Amino acid sequence: MNKYIPVIGLEVHIELSTVSKMFCSCSALHFAKEPNTQVCPTCLGLPGAMPYPNKIAIKDVLKFGLATNSKVNKFSKFDRKHYMYPDLPKSYQISQYDLPFCINGKISLKSGKTINLRRIHLEEDTAKLQHYEDETGQYSLIDFNRSGVALCEMVTEPDFENVDDVIEFLKEIQLIVRYLGISQADMEKGSMRLEANLSLRPEKDSILPDYKIELKNINSFRFLEKALNYEIQRQADLLNKGVKVAQETRGFDQLKNTTFSQRIKEEAQDYRYFPEPDIPPFRFEDKFIFVIKSEIGEMPQEKRVRFANDYKIPQNYIEVLLSDKKRSEYFDKLAELDKKYSIGLNTIANLMVNKNLDQEYPEPELFIKKLLEITKKDYSTTDENTNAVYEVLHEFPKAVSDYNSGKGAVIGFLVGMVQKKLGGKGNPKVITDMLILNLKSPK
Ligand code: ADP
Ligand code: MG
Ligand code: ZN
Repeated sequence: MNKYIPVIGLEVHIELSTVSKMFCSCSALHFAKEPNTQVCPTCLGLPGAMPYPNKIAIKDVLKFGLATNSKVNKFSKFDRKHYMYPDLPKSYQISQYDLPFCINGKISLKSGKTINLRRIHLEEDTAKLQHYEDETGQYSLIDFNRSGVALCEMVTEPDFENVDDVIEFLKEIQLIVRYLGISQADMEKGSMRLEANLSLRPEKDSILPDYKIELKNINSFRFLEKALNYEIQRQADLLNKGVKVAQETRGFDQLKNTTFSQRIKEEAQDYRYFPEPDIPPFRFEDKFIFVIKSEIGEMPQEKRVRFANDYKIPQNYIEVLLSDKKRSEYFDKLAELDKKYSIGLNTIANLMVNKNLDQEYPEPELFIKKLLEITKKDYSTTDENTNAVYEVLHEFPKAVSDYNSGKGAVIGFLVGMVQKKLGGKGNPKVITDMLILNLKSPK
């Protein structure tokens, strides 16, 4: 049996949450809308209809690129990618080929490993096929509401060697996109779509295998994990038997937890790419890029480091708080308020993470008020205080006379002695006031 190292590269599609579509002014909010109600000649691909690009979508992609340490191609263009399918009315998709908006990005994983992002480009989404079956047989209908919605594609180098890194990376990408506010990146709704390419490399080899399997149509991190694990085993079994793994696209069967062949993958040359003649190329000025960069704000990784350094709360709390941008900002507000109340950031984080107390109190001020109530000490009673103060004043006459001759600092010692008698349960302010009152008019 040979030992194999998985070689994995990802292609991630992110549907941008722009108001209008990529090349027309139809609404891009297609989810759960009446079919074919948000369409026009452009996104229906009617002859003669002209595309005009959505500036916000382009800015969003540049933002995403800059936030992932990519280089912006200052000269860029759209290209036509040709293939025939019922969800693609023009029989070509406007996409980007050799000059994508962003290239050469980098994302670091917790292990310190770096994943290289080959490219981030912009394209248009396809229509959606709905499949039906009734007594007349099977048939499909097409909903064009999604046709022409802005879609951003990110492609990584085949840098992953294990499934855990893939999942960590994808969750980080999802978080970055949500922090940027450019997409909901919701897999169930299809606004984040994953494809993984996988091959196995014999441990002793250092070159890329000469084949790869593309896993498509996977709509959750958990299914991707299962599909990859299944596929690693399947390929290892084939290779160990001396069988060459066929290059193909495979889907994941959620019921059987297995992958199955969908089609033999096409090559780039089959798409007959050429520059989109209806949209002039772009030249981005440095100032334009600079302005976009300045709009990015704090990214999850920066926040992770800041929370660890400034707040010193446990890593697992940090991850939970970070996973929701609003929640992390809420915690920032609490940390600011706590400078005054000193409840302690660990206590605060614990009550948010384990008790979801922030859900009940949308206002940070009210949250703190509630916490002060919860954490309020169970103080000793007035009778207990009076007895303890009386005893201390009689047991330490020297301290009393020192105080009366002007050594005010001795009050700290007396408070300490009273607390000792009360087992630390005295309210420091109440005890101090009681002592001062009795010292001024000693009994
Ligand atoms: P194609 O031209 O078939 O689209 P690319 O070289 O553009 O292939 O790569 C597509 C994706 O496949 C990328 O995410 C890349 O990282 C990944 N990839 C390339 N070669 C391999 C390989 N041998 N094993 C696994 N993934 C690979
Ligand atoms: Mg590809
Ligand atoms: Zn339209």
